[in-house]
Amino acid sequence: MGGPLQEILQGRGGKKRTGPWIKKGAPLFFLISTWLALLIDFPFKQPILWFALSLVTAILLTSLHIKSSRKDFSIEFLFSLALVLSGIAKAYAVPWLKLAFFPFIIGMSVFYGMGTIITLSFLLPFLELRTFLSLNDVIHEVAFSVFLILTAVISPLIMNTLKREKEQAVSSLKLIKESARNIADDTESASVRSDKIMSHYFASMMKTDEELRELLSTLKHAVFADAAYFFAQRGTGFFLRCTTESNSENIITGNGIIAKCFADRTPFSSPEIDEKTVEVGYIKDGKITSLIAFPVMDGSTLLGVLTVDSARYQAFSDADRNIVQMFIPQIVKALERERIYPRIQRDYDGLKTLHEESAKLVSSLNTDVIVKKLCEGASTIAASSAFFFISKKKKFQLIHHTGTEDISEKVFDLKGTFLSMVVENRQPIYMSDTSDYRIPIMPFKFENVHSVFALPMLYETSIIGVFVLLSEKTGFLDTFQVELLKVLCNQASTSIANAQLHSEIEKMATTDGLTGLFNHRVFQEKLSEELKRLNRFSETISLMLVDIDFFKKINDTYGHPVGDLVLKNVSKVVEQTIRDIDIPARYGGEEFAIILPRTDETAAENIAERLRKAVEEKSFIAQGKTFNITVSIGIATAPSNAKGKEELIDKADQALYFAKQSGRNNSVLWNVLK
Ligand code: GH3
Ligand code: MG
Ligand code: MG
Repeated sequence: MGGPLQEILQGRGGKKRTGPWIKKGAPLFFLISTWLALLIDFPFKQPILWFALSLVTAILLTSLHIKSSRKDFSIEFLFSLALVLSGIAKAYAVPWLKLAFFPFIIGMSVFYGMGTIITLSFLLPFLELRTFLSLNDVIHEVAFSVFLILTAVISPLIMNTLKREKEQAVSSLKLIKESARNIADDTESASVRSDKIMSHYFASMMKTDEELRELLSTLKHAVFADAAYFFAQRGTGFFLRCTTESNSENIITGNGIIAKCFADRTPFSSPEIDEKTVEVGYIKDGKITSLIAFPVMDGSTLLGVLTVDSARYQAFSDADRNIVQMFIPQIVKALERERIYPRIQRDYDGLKTLHEESAKLVSSLNTDVIVKKLCEGASTIAASSAFFFISKKKKFQLIHHTGTEDISEKVFDLKGTFLSMVVENRQPIYMSDTSDYRIPIMPFKFENVHSVFALPMLYETSIIGVFVLLSEKTGFLDTFQVELLKVLCNQASTSIANAQLHSEIEKMATTDGLTGLFNHRVFQEKLSEELKRLNRFSETISLMLVDIDFFKKINDTYGHPVGDLVLKNVSKVVEQTIRDIDIPARYGGEEFAIILPRTDETAAENIAERLRKAVEEKSFIAQGKTFNITVSIGIATAPSNAKGKEELIDKADQALYFAKQSGRNNSVLWNVLK
């Protein structure tokens, strides 16, 4: 096909084939013409002509810009608007109108990107090209252009920042909305929705009677019977479970052909029954002359008897008998669903309980709380008395139980009891009847136990405890409950192991590794707490700083390990000498700090002397030699000696220093220094 001209001509018809001249050339031609006309003062000389031209240009570019994608013709379109403005300024001799370019640029930077706005600001001075060339008022024009360009640079920057902030706010709002929706959905699906599904399912299960009635009605019509009946077994007899007739019109005699069918489990069929001589098993309003009766069997289990009857003589053919038989599996299925319904309901309830109870277990890091919840959870699965023993080296400590007995001893050796088997085999054992069992079940006397379930609490390969359920009834658990308990205990084992790990880590962070006393950090915290209490209850508190005398010499003479041993032993003496309420800590090196709550100077000095003497009396043996050590003690009391923590420590330290200076192996009250 032809050359570019033809392409242009063709392009005029179809949207997609618009030629380059139409696309770019014509608008550009109009724009340049308008601009040139402006430069040669047309707005002033030929206002009508120029405004007509400029309006055509502006309208053309506006429509092209709107029609095409957002970016196309944007510069040309904006420039054409500026041209009109410039034209008005010229035509009416109002040069100040050019100031409108500033709001114009700022306004447009809301809609256009930085590139477009800056390009525009560079183009706008071309509207004043003539003034530039004539060199009249050049400074004024240059300043105007520079400010215009600066505005063009700054305003898109401000707009971008504002846009970004808005976008961020919008996206965070979206995120919040989404997560809120997710939470709502999760909650729905986890509880409400599953409950709805289950209850719907259970409701459909309960429609067995409806299903049977429909089956019987279809059967009745299929074999042209007067009525269809389904009798179900009850004890040694039977009852009318479902019929196509209204129930009130039937009398069940409980004997006759139906009873025989139940007893023999064989089908019966007769085309000519005389009810005067033969008992059918039920009496209805109409006559029964033809009868088919089939036992409904599920495997070897008899579920009932299905009958169809008719007042007509020889109403049923062999084919009808086959049809009746074909309905039996349908009836079996309907009844089977009904039978499994309570089991499903129970399984569902059981799993729901399990889910709820195990969720409670993971919510705590405290062993006692977890064990308590485990015992409560287990009793919701099966009514019984629960006992939890936690392992303590080779023995087991009873830490919680739901029994009514008062068990005085708490730590037990399980040897010789049923529970030791559970520990040794590391397997749960359920004994549904303990009457013939001779070995004691529990490590303490416990009356009236007829069944027991014991489970070792394992974490990885180690045994962390034993969980026991006792019941006065025999066979208090079924296999499903056993499985639920196993899962619950498994969850509890992990939670307890986590709790133990947590408390170990906590201990490591708060105690000193060598002596087992509180470390310096905890000492500072405890002292702050005690001082706070003191302010509230206006009590007295004393602080004792204990330093071993010539400890360096012990290290030098016997070696560092012996020094460590001395430190351990001194810390033991400290623990044995002080009262339960006192708080001992390793202050650092061979120094100990002891907080004495509710203790005045006199009482503190007594405790200090008791400690000093106890250390003095203790002998150590190293390298075949016996040696003794002594300590010096400084005591300060609050609020009499000090107001705050730092001051109290400082005063106790001063007293200790004095004790050292005055010969060591003594205790000094800060009061004495005054
Ligand atoms: P003074 O009667 O003046 O208190 O004399 P001192 O030797 O007990 O006091 P000094 O402060 O000179 O020495 C304390 C020594 O305690 C120095 C240091 O090696 C030792 N020490 C600090 N911490 C430990 C530790 O954990 N184990 C051992 N074995 N020694 C320690
Ligand atoms: Mg020291
Ligand atoms: Mg010392």
